[in-house]
Amino acid sequence: MSDFPWQSAFEIRDQVAGGSASAIEVARAYLARAEALNPKLSCFLTIDHEGALAAAAQVDRAREAGEELGPLAGVPIALKDNLCTRGVRTTCASQILGEYIPPYDAHVVEALRASGAVILGKTNLDEFAMGSSNENSSFANVHNPWALGRAPGGSSGGSACATAAGLAPLALGSDTGGSVRQPAAFCGITAIKPTYGRVSRYGLVAFASSLDQIGPMARSVREASQLLQVIAGHDRRDATSADRQTGQYVAACDRGVKGLRVGVVRDLLDGLQEADVRARVEAALSALEKEGATLVDVSLPHAKHAVSVYYLIATAEASSNLARFDGIRYGLRVPGADLTETYTKTRAQGFGPEVRRRIMLGTYALSAGYYDAFYLKAQRVRTLIRRDYDTAFESCDVVCTPTTPTPAFALGEKTSNPLDMYLADIFTLPPSLAGLAAISTPCGLSASGLPIGLQLVAPPFEEEVLCSAGQVVEDGCGLVGSRPAALD
Ligand code: GLN
Repeated sequence: MSDFPWQSAFEIRDQVAGGSASAIEVARAYLARAEALNPKLSCFLTIDHEGALAAAAQVDRAREAGEELGPLAGVPIALKDNLCTRGVRTTCASQILGEYIPPYDAHVVEALRASGAVILGKTNLDEFAMGSSNENSSFANVHNPWALGRAPGGSSGGSACATAAGLAPLALGSDTGGSVRQPAAFCGITAIKPTYGRVSRYGLVAFASSLDQIGPMARSVREASQLLQVIAGHDRRDATSADRQTGQYVAACDRGVKGLRVGVVRDLLDGLQEADVRARVEAALSALEKEGATLVDVSLPHAKHAVSVYYLIATAEASSNLARFDGIRYGLRVPGADLTETYTKTRAQGFGPEVRRRIMLGTYALSAGYYDAFYLKAQRVRTLIRRDYDTAFESCDVVCTPTTPTPAFALGEKTSNPLDMYLADIFTLPPSLAGLAAISTPCGLSASGLPIGLQLVAPPFEEEVLCSAGQVVEDGCGLVGSRPAALD
């Protein structure tokens, strides 16, 4: 059997463009692998054989006709199932959208099709992207390919798992408070959370609109950078999409870090409970230093409030965004029921417990009498968190922290205590609240063989520097080439 599943997006594209492999052949190899491993991993909710083979055939025809091929010609990709795909079920891992077939493609899906990418299917997630372990999916638990009893992270756990397990070289996830970075850290891959506004949210099912961003996931920094290149850019259908020049993300991977000032949040590193995480982060910092970066101490005094702030703002926005799932505009049909009954039934039966909890929290935070005390105050502290970064960026170019306080936790370990689960996001939330760009890339394994992720955060629209620094970390202590043992 071919080794396509472990090849990079660049290798696949080169072979397809050069004619030594056909896109159909590549697609077939991936579809077969997805079929074989999905029962074990549950990372795909939908595998789109027909669509993938049709897209691959189109690439092959274009090559035969001598047409110029796109940057991802013939490269398979997995998409989180909250990205709208025309004609292909898009569930958000929720019963309420169990049968929803969008009549249109998200902006990023259009961009991928234009680049020649072959969409393999839709990946599992926490319902409506709310969660940190993928255990809030209403369909199935995703398993971490490095240790099947452990969580893949969330909410883009299906995309992270598919990439790490060689079921797709590339995937897209969405990140509201860490949902591409945290699962990337748990599964030993790279993910980029672009600056808010860098990538159009058109066609991404909304969770918390002031935070949501779509982000690339891949086994290497260079592949993630290539994917960012394809999806970044202005789109007038998203009013918050930034009309700014995009960067040269792949080229940036070769720029190195000479003279780069890396901000280290010392008190945060010193407070880590897990010695392994700290040791791997220190190793990554040494790798950066060795290549010419300088380390400076910075502090983020308000970051400790990020969990409280995020879970007020994100739930408030979610309660408003999810109002559309009322059984009339979207949602389950209740035959013979009047409107009130339809609304009540559809929401009670359609949403899982975590989504219901968040709608209640958010509605409460926005209600008259509590708005000032909770929502408004949270917005104020959000500004203070942003200002902490403004101050930090006066003395450094990127801020470095671990992505997560621990490596992947066990499935079931945190499900009975939502607050404990929320704390898994402690490092990924501050840059999201500040609207900044961030990358998570592996910086080694724990003593028990679990991946550990390093997070680098850059000022708005400075994704290039994340690609340069991420590449140096990957070269120094990354995991490219290591395959998760649990798959053997
Ligand atoms: N884990 C966070 C939450 O539960 C972030 C989710 C996300 O980024 N979509 O909300």
